[in-house]
This record gives sequence, structure tokens and C-alpha cells, in this order.
Amino acid sequence: MPYMALYRKYRPHRMADIVGQKPVVKTLINALEKGQVNHAYLFCGPRGTGKTTIARALARAVNCHEGPTPEPCGVCISCRRHQEGKSMDMVEIDAASNRGIDEIRALKGTVSFSPTEGRNKVYIIDEVHMLTREAFNAFLKTLEDPPPRVIFLLATTEPHKVLPTIHSRCQRFDLRLHTHSDIIDYLEYICGEEGVKASPQAMQAIAEAAEGGLRDAISILDQALSFAGGSLEGDQVYELLGRLDRRELARVVEKIMAGDIPSLFATWQEIEEKGKEPRQVLSDLTSYLRSLLILKECGSETRLLALPPEDKKELFNLGRDLQRSELLTMLDILAGMEKDMDHSSHPFLLLEMAGLRLAGVSKEPSSPDEEVYIEKTTPSLQEEGPGKDIEKVQGEGKSVSSPGQKIRVEEQQKEQRVDQEVEQKAEKKKEEKKAERKKGEKKIKGSPRGDKIKWEEFLQFLLKKKEENSVYQRLQALLKDAYPKKIEEDRLTLQVRFDWHRRELEKKKDLLEQGLQEFYGQGITPRFIMEGEDEGKIKEQEEQTAPEKKGKSLRDDPLVQEALELFEGRIVED
Ligand SMILES: [Zn+2]
Repeated sequence: MPYMALYRKYRPHRMADIVGQKPVVKTLINALEKGQVNHAYLFCGPRGTGKTTIARALARAVNCHEGPTPEPCGVCISCRRHQEGKSMDMVEIDAASNRGIDEIRALKGTVSFSPTEGRNKVYIIDEVHMLTREAFNAFLKTLEDPPPRVIFLLATTEPHKVLPTIHSRCQRFDLRLHTHSDIIDYLEYICGEEGVKASPQAMQAIAEAAEGGLRDAISILDQALSFAGGSLEGDQVYELLGRLDRRELARVVEKIMAGDIPSLFATWQEIEEKGKEPRQVLSDLTSYLRSLLILKECGSETRLLALPPEDKKELFNLGRDLQRSELLTMLDILAGMEKDMDHSSHPFLLLEMAGLRLAGVSKEPSSPDEEVYIEKTTPSLQEEGPGKDIEKVQGEGKSVSSPGQKIRVEEQQKEQRVDQEVEQKAEKKKEEKKAERKKGEKKIKGSPRGDKIKWEEFLQFLLKKKEENSVYQRLQALLKDAYPKKIEEDRLTLQVRFDWHRRELEKKKDLLEQGLQEFYGQGITPRFIMEGEDEGKIKEQEEQTAPEKKGKSLRDDPLVQEALELFEGRIVED
């Protein structure tokens, strides 16, 4: 006997066996019992929620020789034909595949013929919103004035695209996504029938992946069983789907919370070696953090998450150490990263970046109380672990979503004030600097607006340019992961962590030069160094150009000290 896909084999044939969708099924069973079946129904709902399954069960129920009945006999010719999928009285039209022109033409030709074996002619039109205008109009006439004993069962995933004239002639049912427990119950039933074993974790993993679609769930089970043989474990499902299981996700989140970047990078490496898709990993991480947020806001008993109680408890405990604002910022970062990933040729790098940014968020203090401006143009990266440099680049940003600071860096308003101040100072120093330049001294000048690298602004500027010319997009993506180590008179030093990154940047050097010229209004030559390179020279320049300023009282604050140490920054007077 040829292999039959599980979802075909276990498609319910009786109304009573339909999984979930209780209100819809109940209404239809009542109509069948009373013999008051309408001549047109419209089933709306996401894919895999059972629209055509219900339509077919209804077709069978109205055509049974004992019917119409919610319990078709299963032995009459009509029932048998239905069971074999060979009913002459049920016509299925898939409007999505060829937009239905020929079928609707054929429908018009045959609709007035009497049913052959059953009691009614049933037309099931799937994705009815896809019919062409012509097909729609032709169909509408038939629907307005249907011959006796004709029933139309229409299904759509996009009810808003179905013309109001169709809506008004049908009884509409809205199908909902299946709950995890509905899906798991049915999967267990199938496993029982098939004589195979699947662990609760495997069931849970499948239910999560199916996202409320029963058909998808059954297909995944089918695939997973042929992958795993007779006994299925959760790990195997995750492996098959290329997804992270909750234990792995918990480990990742713990590392993010601990700011343990080396270990986080090692985990990403492992994930990559397992062949998991960065995009999927990001999406898994997003839904995991979303679960943490929901549990945090709604408590561990919430019914919003279809997870076993012990899993909820575990997630709830993990999420307790994270602030609401931190979780929101993290979700925000991940959403942005997901978008970037669509256009990136280095999705794995973006995944690493995501980890760094998230780690930065979770290290932010929850109640900032010091208004401190940290100058970050002159950090030394010598003794720091990988990734810290990139966090600091993030620190250049203004919004809450820019992580990476150990202390709170100024808000926008504050920064504007500082900018003004810096500009004034720059103005005053202009003459002085001119003189210095004449002397040929290597002094750090920074942007023309002050001695601060307007790095984030420059990246924003490139992002806007990308709309004019897409070549800037790639450049911007590369620069996002580079650390602006130094900007001098006419030279910008960017530090990167990988050699390939440097090579890629070299290729875009001309473009970058052009962008720098436009943004800073002067010719600046970029150069790219690897972490650890040129330290001595840069240090010397730092000493030369980052003199100590006032800020004694602030300096006493341990938080500030920590930040100063981290960034090797200095305090700028308000
Ligand atoms: Zn029958």
C-alpha cells in the first residue's frame, strides 16, 4: 500500500472529529440536525486551521443517504465515495492555483445538473478571494440565484479581500488558530494509532513550530517520525527544524544577562556549526524573550502562553531579573536585526551583533540618577575582551535602545547642550588649532563640530543615502560593526575584529571617503586596523588630546568610576 501522508490519513471526516473550532462545529452540527443547512458558507481563517476539512466533512454530512446528518453512515455509496475522495457531487476549486476562470466556466455549465450519488451538489472554492474579477462576476450570478440542491462552501485566508456581495450571501465562520493543547492532543492520538512514541517535549516542540496550524503540526510529525524512526525526542524535532530548544535559548539568555560575551560567542559558534539558520535563531530568541515579557507582565499562571506549567515557572524565574524596559529594548533590537538580516550577506555576523547589543541592554542600570557625559573618543581597547569595543560604539547612540554602557550616557537634550558647548569651545579653539596645524602637529580634531566623533550620526547619514543609492547599504552594514577608534585631521581610524571585515571595508574605501567628505565637509581618509594594532601610537595621541577635566564630585561615584574605567573616558563639565 503506498505511503499516505499523515495529514491526509488523519483528516477528520466527521464533524464531531474536527479538532478545535468548537463554536463553528457546534453551529454546523445543529444546522445538520435540524436539516437547516444554508446554501452558502464562507470559512475564514489562517492556513491549517481546518477550513477545507470542515467543508469536506460538511459535504459528506449533507450527502449521506441517511442525512443530512452530523453522523454520516459511512456505508452508503455517497459516504464511500467521499471517503475515497472520489465523490461526483463534490467539486473542489482552488482559486489560488489558476485564479479559477476555467473552473468557474465549468461550474456554470454543470451547476444546474442534479447530483449523481448524493443529495446535493457541493462546490468548495478554496482561497475564493483569488478569483479573477471575471470569474468572480460569473460566480456571483450563480451564488445569487443558485439552483436547488447546490451548496457553496467558500474558504479564504484573507476575508477582507472577499467582495461584500459575496459576504452578504454567505453565512460566515471565523476559524481560530489551534491551541497548543489541541494540537498536542491530536498528535498524541495519531502517535497512538501509528504505534509510535513521541516524548512530551517533542510534541511541545512541534506545537510551537506549527504556530497554531494543525496541518503543519501533523506534517512536521510525519517528517520527524521518518527522520527519527519509531521514537521521537524533543531534540530531534529541534534539529530537524533547525531551531533552538528552550534549554539552548535559556543558556543564551543567561549569558546575555551575565554579559559573558566570550561564552556567548562560543555558543553562537556551536549553533553555526550545527547548521542552524541565523534568522531562525533570531526569531527563536525573539519569541523566547516575548514569552519572558508576557510572563513578567501577566504572571506565571497566564493562559496567554500555551506552555506546560513547569516551563512557565522556569521562564518566569529567568525573566525576573530583567526589567520590563530591558525586555522591550531587547525585542526592539531583535526586530531591527531581523530586518537587517534580510539584506545582509553576513547574517551570522548580525547574530553576533545582536548578542552584543542585548548583552549591553541587560547591563544597563535600571534607575539612572547621574547625568554624566562620557567622552568616548579616546578609549583604549587593550585589556578588554572581544566585543566590548562594539558595545562602546553603541554607546555613541542617543536612545535607550543603544546598549553597551555601564552607566547611563546623556539623553538627547543633554547631548545637544553638550554639543553646543563643544561647538562653542571648538569655536574658541579654532584660532589656536590653526596655529597648531601650521606647526604641523598631529592633533585630534574630530568632526568639524567638535572633538567628538559623530559616528552614530554619520551612520544615520549613510542610511539616508542608501535610499538614493543602494551601494551605501552594504557600506553602512559594514561600518555598523566597525569601531571608530580615532578621527584625526584628515584621517579616520576604524577598528574591526575580523580580517575579512577589514578586506570588505577596503573594497568600499572610495565610497566611504566620499561619504565622509559629504558628512564632515572635508576630506578624510579612512584606514582600517585590527584589534590590538597600532595601540602605542594611538595611546600616545590619546594622552596628548584627552586632557583631564573637572568633575571631582562625580568622580567619587563608584558607578562613574566604573564607567570611566571601562571607557577610559573623562567627565565633561555640564
Ligand atoms: Zn452515508
